[in-house]
Amino acid sequence: MEYPESREKSAELLRQVIALMGQHDAPFNPITYTVWYEYAAGLNARLREAIDRFVLTEPRLSQATTERLYREHVASVDDKTMDRISRDFQQVMSHMAHHAARAGEQAGAFDAELTQLHGALSAQDAEALRARLPRTLQRSQAMRDATTELRTQVAASRAEIERLRADLDRAREEVFIDSLTKVLNRKGLDHRLEQILTQARAGQDAGHGLVMLDIDHFKLINDQHGHLVGDQVLAAVGEVLRQVVTDPTHVVARYGGEEFAIVLPHAGLEAAAALAEKVCRTTRAMKLRKRNAHDVVLSVTVSAGAAVHRPGESAQDWVARADAALYRSKQAGRDRVTVAELS
Ligand code: GH3
Ligand code: MG
Ligand code: MG
Repeated sequence: MEYPESREKSAELLRQVIALMGQHDAPFNPITYTVWYEYAAGLNARLREAIDRFVLTEPRLSQATTERLYREHVASVDDKTMDRISRDFQQVMSHMAHHAARAGEQAGAFDAELTQLHGALSAQDAEALRARLPRTLQRSQAMRDATTELRTQVAASRAEIERLRADLDRAREEVFIDSLTKVLNRKGLDHRLEQILTQARAGQDAGHGLVMLDIDHFKLINDQHGHLVGDQVLAAVGEVLRQVVTDPTHVVARYGGEEFAIVLPHAGLEAAAALAEKVCRTTRAMKLRKRNAHDVVLSVTVSAGAAVHRPGESAQDWVARADAALYRSKQAGRDRVTVAELS
């Protein structure tokens, strides 16, 4: 998942997240952190609903519940990566705790010193006062040092937590990548659609484009040249998509089998159709050589359907409309783009 917040907003979120973690029983680790981060950032509607439901019966969420929420609504990461990130995170937290404790001790010592000084002052004992004052100044200096150290440590920890979160994001993204075509897989697409539609529901924006694409007569390619060549064609179409879709805000995914999807946030039907046309054109122009057989050249085409999101429409209905348009492209002879009507 992408986290688009500014630095100021993320610092505020960090404070909120640490406060939320403190209100629950799950240990401070990256899983707990990520769950509460996504909750506080309001980017994951299903997670939010689930948490709001859970706290009705379990006001202090346990480790097991938090891990379940993570598994079901965030993502799964392989155990080794999770272990490594967890260990690093624990280390950051223990450094921070160590420095906070030191600052606390210094404050305690300073307080004791002030009490003594107050005693000497009340007794108007000039001798004691003279003996005490340098010590008080020393303690005050030590406390200032400890506080500065704590402040530096908190800043460093924040940077470290951000780095760990980036690590975790990368590991999570791998779960969302289709290994054959190197574009997002279905799970990754669902996640992104959910995010985009959550923002749409919050009224933050209007109009997103969606293109559904399907390789033409793919079964024939498999039947004539074998499944391995079929896979080679899938990988090549994935490469066309990665090459043609250059806008980093656009989402490219393998929807399943030989069907792909492109989401264009904040874009209209015209932009979606133009991009789809470009994918069709580039695929058509591609000359695929069958591996280990220099003379066999395959040509591949794709059909597409485009639809713009309607206010209040579910992801499922949106995809279904783009799919219906895609079906019309197939009916009309394939290797073309059809747009869904707006009304
Ligand atoms: P149309 O032009 O109407 O889309 O015809 P089509 O042959 O492309 O469509 P159909 O749905 O009949 O066949 C799709 C085929 O895609 C069937 C399935 O075996 C094959 N397929 C799905 N996933 C993979 C894959 O990962 N690798 C390979 N090689 N084939 C796959
Ligand atoms: Mg097909
Ligand atoms: Mg198909």
